[in-house]
Amino acid sequence: MTYLSTRNHRCSESAAAAITRGIAPDGGLFVPDSLPPISQEMLASWLPLDYRARAAAVLALFLTDFSHEELTQAIDAAYGANFDHPAIAPLRTVGSLHFLELWHGPTCAFKDMALQLLPHLMTRAAAKRGDTREIVILTATSGDTGKAALAGFRNVPGTRILVYYPKEGVSPIQRLQMVTEEGDNVGVCAVEGNFDDTQTGVKRIFSDWSIAERLDRQGMVLSSANSINWGRLVPQIVYYFHAYLELVAAGSVSMGERINVCVPTGNFGNILAAYYARGMGLPIGRLICASNANRVLTDFFQSGSYDRNRPFYTTISPSMDILISSNLERLLFDLCGRNDRQLAAWMESLRTTGHYTVPDAVCDRMRALFAAGTADENATRQAIREVFEREGYLCDPHTAVAVRVYEDYRQQTGDRTPAVIVSTANPYKFAGSVLQALGADGNGDEFERIDRLHRLSGLAVPSSLADLRCKPERFGACCTREGMENALLAMLGIGS
Ligand SMILES: *Cc1c(COP(=O)(O)O)cnc(C)c1O
Repeated sequence: MTYLSTRNHRCSESAAAAITRGIAPDGGLFVPDSLPPISQEMLASWLPLDYRARAAAVLALFLTDFSHEELTQAIDAAYGANFDHPAIAPLRTVGSLHFLELWHGPTCAFKDMALQLLPHLMTRAAAKRGDTREIVILTATSGDTGKAALAGFRNVPGTRILVYYPKEGVSPIQRLQMVTEEGDNVGVCAVEGNFDDTQTGVKRIFSDWSIAERLDRQGMVLSSANSINWGRLVPQIVYYFHAYLELVAAGSVSMGERINVCVPTGNFGNILAAYYARGMGLPIGRLICASNANRVLTDFFQSGSYDRNRPFYTTISPSMDILISSNLERLLFDLCGRNDRQLAAWMESLRTTGHYTVPDAVCDRMRALFAAGTADENATRQAIREVFEREGYLCDPHTAVAVRVYEDYRQQTGDRTPAVIVSTANPYKFAGSVLQALGADGNGDEFERIDRLHRLSGLAVPSSLADLRCKPERFGACCTREGMENALLAMLGIGS
């Protein structure tokens, strides 16, 4: 299997190169040259396997330059006792809803599913390419990604991980999760500014040749763990196969019967993985794209016009507060017949004017596959309350957006196909918002809220959050926007 760029289909790279490079030289995203087909017999043969073995089977189809040993070693290192559930991604059936819980990893959000594996893929990919330099991962975070990247790369030999977060832009629990990180190869620094300032600073460092040269002299190379890296997408394809097989195993669907999936969406990575699984032959009917008040994708699926010139809302589902859904580029590449020039033109238009419009034929293809909907703040809170009162099941706000959009979809279409709701975060990560949705007191510090939510719901508090109470803060550094380069050199122990 080789990988092309969405902006230049003559580009052709191995999986190892796609993962170490992250982004194609022309600014496009790496996509597989074709999707490996899965027959029903093959699918049935995966039924008795556990999550790790299913992951090995799916990954082997895409990462064809990795040996079986390399893949199984990486997978065993990624999905083990660091997850608090033996199924890794348990499927919970609650009334007529099937929740695929992707938050049993160390940081309690779905990013762990990919970021626990990526470091192991990345170090093996670099070794394969003969690159012996230490990989320095640099990340700007608005909250969840930073901690998941720290937890994934912590103490992975041959890597360092450095995270910048906006001083005023993350929740107290997210800040604590990062500044108490324990690994020996980690660094965390606050930036005086907002998320955009932080992200801009990181991009500036990546494009600075003098920094690249200084690091190279020290035997180091910069890399990125953001969600457009193929190494983050491919682990996500796995859990759609896993969810389907769990439904079959539970007798909720018969082998070959179609299901729908509904995904709370931000950067379009998670739902794109479902689209790829469908393209491989997994019996998925409709892909339901759920957005919060930042409904740029809902509008796009309706109108064919992508327009980010609109107000930005800060919501109770912050990981979906996004106006540029980067991974959409990969879907459009397929739907416009892999027309790289067309893609490059739309992306250039997005960069310069903030919008682009796709032709009717592309719209028709999109609508044949996807449904899209929005849940505003009130609808999200209402969904949290209703599911809890009706079923005794607690959803985090991101998952609640998907519940609400799915219920609206079912009502509007009458489609009774069994559906998987992708559940992306542990509700304790957003205890204040969840308490408010339930009509309870959302005041007090994070730990008071967690205790209150525990008394109210009886749901076990994940130890990784409970333990934050007594962990020492290790990283108090704060820099200005202009000082991010020097902070990097200081964190790496290279004098400026
Ligand atoms: C990142 C994130 C999302 C959005 O996922 P995308 O792949 O960016 O669409 C949804 N929910 C939670 C909790 C997240 O952390």
